[in-house]
Amino acid sequence: MKISIIGTGYVGLVSGVGFAKHGHEVICVDIDEDIVDSINNAIPPIYEEGLEELLEKVVDSGKLSATTDLQGAVEKTDITFICVGTPSREDGSIDTSAIESATEDVSEAIDEKNDYHIVVVKSTVTPGTTDGLIKSILESSGKKVGEDFGLGMNPEFLREGVALDDFLDPDRIVIGGWDEKSRETIKRVYESFDAPKLVTDIRTAEMIKYTSNALLATKISFANEMSRICEEVGIDVYDVMDGVGLDHRIKRDFLNAGPGFGGSCFPKDVKAIKNLAKKNDIKAELLEAVLFINSQQPIHTVEILEKKLGDLKGKNVTVLGLTFKGGTDDIRETRALPIVESLLEKGAKVTGYDPKGMDNFSEVIPSINYADSIEEALKDAEACIIQNDWDDFSKLEGKDFEVMKNKVVLDGRRVLDEEKLDKEIKYLSIGKGGLD
Ligand code: NAD
Repeated sequence: MKISIIGTGYVGLVSGVGFAKHGHEVICVDIDEDIVDSINNAIPPIYEEGLEELLEKVVDSGKLSATTDLQGAVEKTDITFICVGTPSREDGSIDTSAIESATEDVSEAIDEKNDYHIVVVKSTVTPGTTDGLIKSILESSGKKVGEDFGLGMNPEFLREGVALDDFLDPDRIVIGGWDEKSRETIKRVYESFDAPKLVTDIRTAEMIKYTSNALLATKISFANEMSRICEEVGIDVYDVMDGVGLDHRIKRDFLNAGPGFGGSCFPKDVKAIKNLAKKNDIKAELLEAVLFINSQQPIHTVEILEKKLGDLKGKNVTVLGLTFKGGTDDIRETRALPIVESLLEKGAKVTGYDPKGMDNFSEVIPSINYADSIEEALKDAEACIIQNDWDDFSKLEGKDFEVMKNKVVLDGRRVLDEEKLDKEIKYLSIGKGGLD
């Protein structure tokens, strides 16, 4: 099929490349000319494992191209996926300005078209957005949904760091459609994908995305709450969760204690669904607690260090891992941000290192030292916090920490193999007993 993708960030670009791999002809649209040029030159504007190779393949084969000409792209294709950002507003609701603006352009393009076209929202939007706001913008062209064009909602569940694998081999594909024709058309796009396909109405599709993310975030905050108790009574929460996770009803995933969840989805999606609850006079107390616990974990991380080192003023503290997780250059809502801010507030001298995230992080916090390697970052440090789970960090052994002045290592994501660390390393980790 001929597909246009509006907004080629993490979701749009990976989806575009993934659809092209499945044989579709894809036109990617973005308002940012640099992004468009970069894609046409087969250089991914974001970091994602395997993306560069696949992008090169689909660009070279002519299966994927990029443009800023949205209307031209809609004109030349049968189906449009809208993948622009939906960040949080101050009150937690989603900022729909980008999706509104993109939809207005799509609406004008549809108006010019004689053939049936279908518009699918892939951006995460709160229930009621697609068949409310988006539908009404599309119908402002004078055309009618169900008669002149189709409408659908197809939430995306990919995880950054493994985005291509997730997109190409998803756990499930959720297809929400206005009518049978819309649902069948979207299904055809995914015909060659070997995954369970759940066909729903539009609002259910929207809600499935929020409910999934809210539950995953809840598991993390639950693990963090249990970890606080475990720390006080001298039990390792990871051992506890290994036992808990063996229960097939629970599963071990997302039960790791740490500095909390970040990224472009969990914090904003939990806030958005909490805001939706509030608008409907429902007090979402569980979700409130999930966010509150999450906000405390970075503070708690620094407190653990303080307990060991005393006053942090003037001390060299290294933060390994600046992105919200390993495998990405994305720093949105990274826990490194509140951790570094708290360290700076306490007068520590902070050095940061990340394999891919330093450019983005230094735009937000330019005032710390940035090291070119793990070794340089650790040199003369009096403590180090491992904030994310890049493979490079999990490979570290005792000898790698020898360059430190004082070998206090706070393993925030439990990536190190404690057996491979020398005895003189003071190994600390969130959710582990014996922190005093
Ligand atoms: P992003 O910020 O990385 O990318 C958005 C892109 O849209 C940018 O390149 C921007 O220039 C472009 N854009 C903005 N307005 C535009 C317009 N009017 N026309 C054309 N292009 C426009 O966002 P993302 O992380 O890819 O997220 C997109 C959506 O997918 C969000 O709703 C997000 O919640 C959801 N989502 C994200 C992830 C993830 O891991 N990042 C996973 C699942 C779902």
